[in-house]
Amino acid sequence: MSLIVQKYGGSSVADAESIRRVAKRIVETRKAGNEVVVVVSAMGDTTDELMDLANQVVPQPTGRELDMLLTAGERISMALLAMSIKSLGVEARSYTGSQAGMITDAQHGSARIVDVTPDRVRSALDSGAVAIVAGFQGFNRGTGDITTLGRGGSDTTAVALAAALKADVCEIYTDVDGVYTTDPRMVPRAQKIDRITSEEMLELAAAGAKVLYIRAVEYARRHGVTLHVRSSFNNNEGTLVINPVDGESNVEEPLIAGVAADLSQAKITVVGVPDIPGKAAQIFTTVAGAGANIDMIVQNVSAAATSRTDISFTLPKTDGAGTLAALSHARDAIGFETLEYDEQIGKLSLVGAGMRTNAGVSAKLFTALYEAGINIEMISTSEIRISVVTRADTIAQAVRVVHTAFDLDAEEQAQVHGGTGR
Ligand code: ASP
Ligand code: MG
Repeated sequence: MSLIVQKYGGSSVADAESIRRVAKRIVETRKAGNEVVVVVSAMGDTTDELMDLANQVVPQPTGRELDMLLTAGERISMALLAMSIKSLGVEARSYTGSQAGMITDAQHGSARIVDVTPDRVRSALDSGAVAIVAGFQGFNRGTGDITTLGRGGSDTTAVALAAALKADVCEIYTDVDGVYTTDPRMVPRAQKIDRITSEEMLELAAAGAKVLYIRAVEYARRHGVTLHVRSSFNNNEGTLVINPVDGESNVEEPLIAGVAADLSQAKITVVGVPDIPGKAAQIFTTVAGAGANIDMIVQNVSAAATSRTDISFTLPKTDGAGTLAALSHARDAIGFETLEYDEQIGKLSLVGAGMRTNAGVSAKLFTALYEAGINIEMISTSEIRISVVTRADTIAQAVRVVHTAFDLDAEEQAQVHGGTGR
């Protein structure tokens, strides 16, 4: 008997019919003799709709009440799913995040899991029932309040439960057949990947691939949880995200795992920074104080005449306003001249473990972009990733030409079953 954790995303439980379809799938897994724990997201775009509603009531809802509101979305889907499973003759019980023992810190809107005590889930399984757990939510012991794990947090709930219950596998059900070499919504010739290492998956998720959330991949990697990404709309094989143990990774890896696009970033340029020790430290201490997670940083060569330089960096658009305000405030102390803010950027990242041992990857990437007439504004690299910033409106074309240049195009068009990709 295996213990399987299955997570169904919002597009897989978007309406009553989808819920019944998913319930059938769960019942089949249970009847095949497995213990089944199910984690659900809110139906369709419920979370976005609740968020819109809150913003119509007040411009800045408080974290506590917003979490109270948003967690209602998953309560709806979990209860409906449990009813549907029961109607098919299999016992099922739904649990909120706190009932399922998802203990978090007190950070509303982006809480971190600090402990998982799934006693009630375990006893539900022992009694033969399927346990349904609301994704994306937790409970803080200090404040006694309900928290949320951040957008897309149901993946993390599923992985954390899989780790705590020592599940054999954590299946992530979505509206595409698995992890693709790039977003199939952007490039119809994207190719499904059969197996990918968690290291590559982590880089792709960090670079903007939306199929899995980065925190879930990190958690799975740290706890040795095998992820299986599959479509809830068919029985295709999906993608296994594996954690190769040392010495086992001697299988020849493909050079490139995938190409990711990220349109959520903006660029700040600090113009006319005195080129003397300590200025970068001051700038990025100020930026960190504003809570921004920065990504790429580029410092220009300083102009000989002025001994001043420009420093540019990228950050999430959502951190833009706060960071600009903090830097403006520190302008005299740092001594820079002006600030520029640019939201029309896109980031393309090429990821592959094979890059470690292959020369010429950047040359090929830059050539493909040059041949398409696309200008590169910033570049950064890690051991297994190259990222470039271009204009936002060229990013889709950039991804397509790079995908083709690295021979990743599939014979057939990828199938996207549902959902808005939100
Ligand atoms: N419903 C939440 C969201 O839309 C959590 C999730 O879907 O994983 O972000
Ligand atoms: Mg959702």
